[in-house]
Amino acid sequence: MTTMSIPAGAHLIGGDWSTAAPGGTAVSDNPARPDEPVGEFPQGDASTAADAVTAAVDAQAAWARAGFGARARVLERAAVLFDERADELALLCTLEEGKTVPESRGEAVLSAETCRYQAGLAKVSSERIFPSNNPGETIRTVRAPLGVVGVITPWNFPLLIPVWKIAPALVTGNAVVWKPASNTPLSAVAIASIFTEAGLPPGVLNLVLGPGSMGGALVADDRVDGVTFTGSVGVGQGIRDTVTARNGRVQLELGGHNPCIVFGDADIDVAVAGVVNGAMGATGQKCTATRRIIAVGDVHDELVDRLVDAVTALKVGDGQDAATAIGPLVSAGARAEVADAVDQAKAEGAETLAVAGGTPDGPCFFAPTLFAGGTDLTITHEEVFGPVSTVLRVDDEDEAFALANDTDFGLTASVYTDDPWIVDRAVHELQAGLIKVNGPTTGSEIHAPFGGEKDSSGHAAREQGDTAQEFFTRTRTAYIKPGRPR
Ligand code: NAD
Repeated sequence: MTTMSIPAGAHLIGGDWSTAAPGGTAVSDNPARPDEPVGEFPQGDASTAADAVTAAVDAQAAWARAGFGARARVLERAAVLFDERADELALLCTLEEGKTVPESRGEAVLSAETCRYQAGLAKVSSERIFPSNNPGETIRTVRAPLGVVGVITPWNFPLLIPVWKIAPALVTGNAVVWKPASNTPLSAVAIASIFTEAGLPPGVLNLVLGPGSMGGALVADDRVDGVTFTGSVGVGQGIRDTVTARNGRVQLELGGHNPCIVFGDADIDVAVAGVVNGAMGATGQKCTATRRIIAVGDVHDELVDRLVDAVTALKVGDGQDAATAIGPLVSAGARAEVADAVDQAKAEGAETLAVAGGTPDGPCFFAPTLFAGGTDLTITHEEVFGPVSTVLRVDDEDEAFALANDTDFGLTASVYTDDPWIVDRAVHELQAGLIKVNGPTTGSEIHAPFGGEKDSSGHAAREQGDTAQEFFTRTRTAYIKPGRPR
């Protein structure tokens, strides 16, 4: 286990760690080692969420008045702690979520980078000055904090997704109530303790552990000015309805069904590596994972041969084992959902092209699977959150673009080609918030905007980058005249 000092509590409310368990307790499992549970965690309920909101309301005004510089210094110290503890955080994340240690470590390092970047933005003015029609007058816009923000996060990036929401929320002067996914409580406690150690005043970041219904109570609380949510489409749409009905602000990052188009002029080595990484990396449990592989014309046969070899050779195992490329799915329930979707695809006539060999027994391990088929397959429309992808063949460029956009989602898309005209078309015509050229549909840098279109995000403000602060602030316009006429 870890040597990191984790507080003997679960919820963090008003600066105090609490083990209150009005909702009972829940065991956090290690998906690779079902006999070695990670721990038992107290579960809150609606009253826990309400207490946390009260603590946030009480702390927010003073935090906003502390100024950008003081807030940025807390994030800078947090960045140092994320870096120093990257190995321990990686282990926690792998224990709870299952992904490989290098994948988990990447989350820890990017969490540090996110804190450092968002702190640095404090030194870049977000204010604007406009000339006025009236002599002596200036017009100035400032960004005021939203107030109290609810942060609700999924289990698939238990370190990075929370930090990319919490860091910009804090630096812009908001107080936060954070409800992480039930599957990854220890990672959440570790993050909250880092921010506390970095000097965050009590009540500015509150953590509540518990079931989805507790998240429901949080979003319904009209003292919560905005909710930023990453998770499934159904839950996200329910949150949107609740928050907008009470005139709150909502930011959604939901599912995806991301296409990758491989053209005949692509470098086949680059394409195969990117497709396998995008489809199967992190056990396919990325919202940005490649769900459809669109092969254009004659490249199809060679691409399929190469993908079959690569997928068959993938080594599935415990994420703590250095030889493992693909860890387990997060839970037995998640595995059952993926297995059902694979069975349905077969029943609908999908051709199984490849199944990774040597997958260990265990309730959460699942062999990466590659299908071939057409758009009549459910799996080519609905997100299956696991290491499963489908190759679809098209004849030409127009057909490829039409098929890529034939989805309710619009999170990411990629193309493999050396043709600048196709690249230009991809950048303009692929209906996705993030487009990769000669790279996998997964992965993004924390200083550039991130988010989707269509059902993936709706009209939400972009996360990450300098755009991250837009959601967490209100623009106010001030007309400033001299006190006395001259
Ligand atoms: P989920 O929707 O089941 O849960 C997400 C969070 O919402 C959890 O903390 C959960 O406890 C909470 N929750 C559940 N019901 C709630 C309710 N009624 N009110 C308030 N909160 C509630 O999602 P998940 O299974 O944790 O994550 C997987 C999903 O997340 C996938 O669909 C994936 O595509 C999506 N995802 C999207 C992105 C993105 O950036 N677009 C990133 C990662 C994951």
